[in-house]
Amino acid sequence: MTIPLALVGIGKIAQDQHVPAIAADPDFELVAAVSRHGGVAGVPRFPDIDAFLAEGPAAAVSLCVPPSVRTGIALKALAAGRDVMLEKPTAATLGEVEAMADAARASGATLFATWHSREAPGVEPARAWLAGRAVIAASIVWKEDVRRWHPGQAWIWEPAGFGVFDPGINALSILTAILPGAFRVEAATLVYPENRQTPIAAGVRLRGAAGYPVAVELDWLQQGPQTWDIVVETDAGRLTLAHGGAVAAIDGVELVSEPEAEYPRLYRRFAGLVRARASDVDASPLRIVADALLVGRREIGPPFLD
Ligand code: NAP
Repeated sequence: MTIPLALVGIGKIAQDQHVPAIAADPDFELVAAVSRHGGVAGVPRFPDIDAFLAEGPAAAVSLCVPPSVRTGIALKALAAGRDVMLEKPTAATLGEVEAMADAARASGATLFATWHSREAPGVEPARAWLAGRAVIAASIVWKEDVRRWHPGQAWIWEPAGFGVFDPGINALSILTAILPGAFRVEAATLVYPENRQTPIAAGVRLRGAAGYPVAVELDWLQQGPQTWDIVVETDAGRLTLAHGGAVAAIDGVELVSEPEAEYPRLYRRFAGLVRARASDVDASPLRIVADALLVGRREIGPPFLD
């Protein structure tokens, strides 16, 4: 039996990835779009979650709204017993994550906090190769052009918008997937444009569970080639994960991996969780961002103009 699904927030990621992934997945049927302005062709539209829950079909919900408003919508859906899938970053705060996990437990609903970058083709081969190897050091360089990837998205510059940590948390989601144990934030430098509420660049120094250092460099003003790279030095060679986790290599020799299918894989996993009546909520990438914001030294930079 297919799982009826409503998509909430029809913006860039909903249109680019969720709609095609749902259409291609035989386990799901898109039965509603919850959207203030947009919609999905041929699918009934509801202006907000209240109208959908009151008048719409009984369906699971997949939330593609910004993190600042996501938890309020999720809590309403969970209270109504609906299974819920969340875009990344899971929530605006760690307390919100706990509240959603508690609500899912109370109602018996499935809650899936997705991290799409963990589904990148190189990530699982990298995790498997690293298992049992001694890590000496790691580094993350995540540099992209905010004007190219987030044109006109005002929410990323507002409180709870994450700024450069919106893409940066993707790297942290990979780091926490390929290496075991908790990461501690030792220091951070956060650069805020003088006219914005979220950072445009950040440097973070982490310490892995086994004591090795991890250097994180995030920048949102990268012109030309974009960089989304992770390097892990081990006693058995250097692992590189390039292009946001798409390509894993050991000392320059590529590991075999599946073709790219991040969002189809997320919906496969959501279907499995719904059928198993299970949840998957891992806040470890969000915790690193929260800790960086707690200990970070703040610098004020030039204004950012779209
Ligand atoms: P977006 O293009 O700005 O779309 C977000 C949508 O959420 C809006 O179009 C709007 O849709 C709805 N919304 C509801 N309340 C809102 C509010 N207060 N402010 C703004 N929008 C509101 O953003 P997006 O790029 O799709 O990102 C959404 C989430 O997906 C973010 O958490 C982001 O990190 C994640 N994500 C984005 C990408 C990407 O490449 N863009 C990739 C992976 C993950 P309606 O008009 O339909 O209500």
